[in-house]
Amino acid sequence: MNASGRNNACPACGRTKDADCRWDDGKILCHTGTDLKPGDTLTIAGQKWAFIHHHGGFSGIAAVFKPHRDRNREKWKRDLRRPIPNSPAQLLAIQQKRSHWSDVLDQFFAAFDAAWNVPDFYSATPDQVTAAFAAIDDARNKAAALAPHLSAIWHEHPDLKQLHRLRVKAFLKHIADMAEDVCRFKEQDLGTPCPVAVQAIAEGL
Ligand SMILES: [Zn+2]
Repeated sequence: MNASGRNNACPACGRTKDADCRWDDGKILCHTGTDLKPGDTLTIAGQKWAFIHHHGGFSGIAAVFKPHRDRNREKWKRDLRRPIPNSPAQLLAIQQKRSHWSDVLDQFFAAFDAAWNVPDFYSATPDQVTAAFAAIDDARNKAAALAPHLSAIWHEHPDLKQLHRLRVKAFLKHIADMAEDVCRFKEQDLGTPCPVAVQAIAEGL
C-alpha cells in the first residue's frame, strides 16, 4: 500500500505530514477521518470513491473508502446480458407453440365430448359398449399425453390458461372417473381384471 508523506499526499485528505494514511487501487485508509456518511462519495482524479465506515486500519479509526460502484451502471450491464424478449423470431416461435397447443387442446376437448356422451354401459348394446370403451380409452390417452405439459402450457400462454385451465382440470378428473367406471364394469360384468396401468393413470390424473 502507499503511505502518505511529503511527496505523496493522501488522495482523500491531502495529508503529507506523516505516513498515517494508506491506500492502494482498491481501498483508502485515511487517518484524518471524514464528515461523510457511509455511502457518500468523493471524486478523486475523476474516479468516485465511496466512504464505507470509520473503523479501518490497524488502529481501527481510519476512514475507509472504496471505489464506488455505480448501481445504475451495474443494472444497465445486467439488462444487456438478459435476452431481449419478444424478438420477431421469438414471437413467431411462441405463436407456433401456442397454435400447436391450441390444436392439442381442441382434440382433447373433442375426445372428452365423445367419451362424455357414451351411453350407459348397462343399457347399451355390445357394439355400443365397445365403442364407448374406445372413446373413453382415446380420451384417457389424450389426457395422459397432455397432463405432463399443462404447467408449461399455462405458463407460456396465459391466454390459453385463462380460456381453458379450469375446464381442462375438470375434464381430467371426469376422464379419470370414466376410466375407473370402465375398469369396474369390465371387472364386475365381463370378469376382466382391471389393468394396473389404467388404474395408475386414472389415479395420477
Ligand atoms: Zn488521509
